[in-house]
Amino acid sequence: MKTQQCPACGHKINLKQAAEAKKLNGIFMLQCANCKQWSHENRKAAIVKNVGLILMLTGSVMGYFQLGGIIIGPIFAFTGGLIALATQLAVPRKLHTP
Ligand SMILES: [Zn+2]
Repeated sequence: MKTQQCPACGHKINLKQAAEAKKLNGIFMLQCANCKQWSHENRKAAIVKNVGLILMLTGSVMGYFQLGGIIIGPIFAFTGGLIALATQLAVPRKLHTP
């Protein structure tokens, strides 16, 4: 389950508990149920996270077909997963100011 924090009040936001959600210019926005602030994912973090996910996927495929030996695939997958997880946890959401 993907849980994130509201950058304004620290309230936990997740897709089910968010007051409202909408898409604005292709960016997924969530409204905090506690303070009604809109926030969205940090764009740079989202890019890094996607790179991590792609690396994880590539590594899994490589591991499955044993491309590049039995070590490299799993290392790619593991590193990609770490990158994705780290950006998700470490980079705070951005406040949306209309
Ligand atoms: Zn809030």
